[in-house]
Amino acid sequence: MKRVVRFTAAALRRRAGPLGRLAGWSVAEALPVLLAGHLTARAVDDGFLAGRPGTGLAWLGVLAVAVLVGAVGTNRAYARLGDVVEPFRDELAQRVVAGALQRSTSSGARPETAAVARLTHQVEIVRDTFAGLVMVVRGFLFSAGAALIGLNSLDPLVAAVVAVPLVAGLALFAAALPAMVSRQRDYVHADEQLGEAAGAAFAGHRDVVACGAQRSVAERVGRQVDRQAGAEHALARMAALRSLSLAVGGWLPLAVLLLAAPWLVRRGLTAGAVLGALVYVATGLQPALHALVQGVAGGGLRFAVTLHRILAATAPPTAPGSTPPRSPGTGPPTGSAGTPPRYPGTAPPTAPGGTLRTGPAGTARPDTPRGPRPVRAELRAVTFRYGPRARPVLDGFDLTLADGAHLAVVGPSGAGKSTLAGLLAGLLHPQAGTVLLGGTPVGAADPATLARHRVLIPQEAYVFTGTLLENLRYLHPEAPDERVDAAVHRLGLLPLVRRLGGLSATLDPGTLSAGERQLVAAARAYLSPAPLAVLDEATCHLDPVAEATVEEAFGSRPGALVVVAHRISSALRARHVLILDGGVPLHGRHDELLTRSATYRELVGHWQGRPVSAEATAT
Ligand code: ATP
Repeated sequence: MKRVVRFTAAALRRRAGPLGRLAGWSVAEALPVLLAGHLTARAVDDGFLAGRPGTGLAWLGVLAVAVLVGAVGTNRAYARLGDVVEPFRDELAQRVVAGALQRSTSSGARPETAAVARLTHQVEIVRDTFAGLVMVVRGFLFSAGAALIGLNSLDPLVAAVVAVPLVAGLALFAAALPAMVSRQRDYVHADEQLGEAAGAAFAGHRDVVACGAQRSVAERVGRQVDRQAGAEHALARMAALRSLSLAVGGWLPLAVLLLAAPWLVRRGLTAGAVLGALVYVATGLQPALHALVQGVAGGGLRFAVTLHRILAATAPPTAPGSTPPRSPGTGPPTGSAGTPPRYPGTAPPTAPGGTLRTGPAGTARPDTPRGPRPVRAELRAVTFRYGPRARPVLDGFDLTLADGAHLAVVGPSGAGKSTLAGLLAGLLHPQAGTVLLGGTPVGAADPATLARHRVLIPQEAYVFTGTLLENLRYLHPEAPDERVDAAVHRLGLLPLVRRLGGLSATLDPGTLSAGERQLVAAARAYLSPAPLAVLDEATCHLDPVAEATVEEAFGSRPGALVVVAHRISSALRARHVLILDGGVPLHGRHDELLTRSATYRELVGHWQGRPVSAEATAT
C-alpha cells in the first residue's frame, strides 16, 4: 500500500493550488460547526436563561447566517473538487493507455483489449472513490478541527475530555485498516475470478453442452461463487470493528461529557456552555467521524485496492517526446532524437524526422546515398494521377532505395500503395518527375531491361500449366538446381513440392489454392536475378507463418525489398515503413511512426484489433 500512498501523495502535491482553494471553501463550510456550540451557549446563558429571549433568538439568528455561509462553502467545495480529481483520473488513464501501447508495440502483439477495458473501468472506480475520499477526509479534518477549536473556546478541559476518546476511536480504526484492506483485496480478487469463470463458461457454453461438461463447469463456477460469498462475509465482519471505533470515538465523548457535566458545572462551567459542548460533539464531531469511518471503510478501501491493482499492472507513461520501447527485430535506431534517422540500405530521409519530402517537383531531392551500396530505384519529384483532372496519387514524391533496403508501404485502401508499386516496377509512368531503375529512366527502358532490374509480385499470382520447375525458373531459366532447391526450402515450398510429386510434376493452376499459387510466384520472384523485389500484397492468401517465411527470405535476398503490407507483422519486419494516406507521406521506423503518425496508430490498431474471422478469410 506504500505505493498507493506515495502515488496519491505525489498527485495531491501536484494539485496544491486546487487543494488550497478547496481548503478555503472548506473553512467556510465548517463555519457553522465552529460557531454552533459557542452561539448556543450565548443564546442560553445570555438570552433564554437570563430571561431575554430576544437576545437568545438573536444569537440563534447569527447561527442561521453561519449555516447559510456554510451551505455556500459546501456548494463551492464540490465545484472545486473536479479540479483535484479530474487531472488525477487523466494521469491514471494516460498511464493505463500508455502502458498498453508500450507493451503491444514492444512485443508486436495484439493489445490486450480486455485488460485495457478492465483497467479503464478501474480508473473510473478510482476516480469516483478518490472524489469521495477527498470529501470525507477533508470534511472530517475541518469539522472535527472546528468542533475542537469551539470546545476549546468554551473550556480547554472540555476539549480534552472529548479529544481523548475521539483519538482512541481513530486509533482503533487506523489499527483495523490493514485487515480491512486485505479483506477488500480478497473480495475484489474473488469477484474478478468469478467474473472470469462465468464469462468463460458463458462464451463456451456450446462447447460445454457439446462435451456434456455442464456439471463440472457448474461446479467450477459454483466454487468461485462460494469463494466470493466467503470474501464478502469476511469483509462484512469488518463492520463490527467500524462500529466499535465509531462508538469509542463518537458516542463515548457524549457519554463522558454527560457524566462529567455536574463536575464541570461545579468548576464554573455554565449550563449554556455544557449544552454548547454537547452541540459540538453531536452535530460536529460525531457526524464527521461517522462520515470518515464509513467513507474510508467503503470507497476508501476500494480506492486503495483498485489503485494498487492499476499501479501494479501499468508502467508510468514515458515522458513526452521520448521513444517508446522498440519492437523486436527492428534494430536500434541510428539517429539521435531530433535528427533524421538513417536506415541501412536507404538514402537519408529528405525532411526532418524522416519524412519523405513531397511538394512541388524539384523542391526536394534525396541525398545521394553515401557508401558503396548501389541505388536500385529512385523516384525523383514524381507526380502521378490517373486522369488529367484526377487528384494526384503522388505529388512531387521522392524515394531512394539502395541495396539492403526493406521498406513496408502501408496506408488505407486507395491511398496509392499499388500505384507506387506500379511506378517502381515501371508499369506506370509519372506525369512529372523521374523514376530510375538501376540508374536507367523507366520511360526509356524496354521490358527486358525492366525485368533485369526489378521483379513485381502482384496479389493475383500467375501460375501457368507446365512443370513446377518451369514455373519456378520462368524469370531465371539458367538458375542452377541448387539455387532452386534453396529457394524451395527458404520459402517453405517443400510440402507443396512433395504433394505435387516433385519439381518435374506438371502443374494444373486450377488445382492450386490461392495461397499455393502465391508461394509459387514468390519462389519464382525470389529466383529472379532482379535486385529490386516489389511485393504488392503478394502474400495476402498465406497464413501469418508462411507470410513471415516468405518475407524473411526476401529480406535476406541481395538487393532491395518493398512490401505493400498486408498485415502489421510485415511493417514490424521491415527496416522502415512508408505511410501513404492521401496527405504528406511519412516514413520512419515502426516505433517512431507510432508516436508521429495518427494514421499509423489507427492502422496498427485496426490490424491488431481485426476479428479472427477476417484473419482466417485472408489466409
Ligand atoms: P488498396 O489498398 O485498396 O489496394 P491502394 O493504396 O493500393 O489501395 P491504389 O490502387 O494505388 O491504392 O489507388 C490509388 C488511387 O488511385 C485510388 O483513389 C484509386 O481509386 C485510384 N486508381 C487506381 N487505379 C486506377 C485506375 N486504373 N484508374 C483510375 N483510378 C485508379
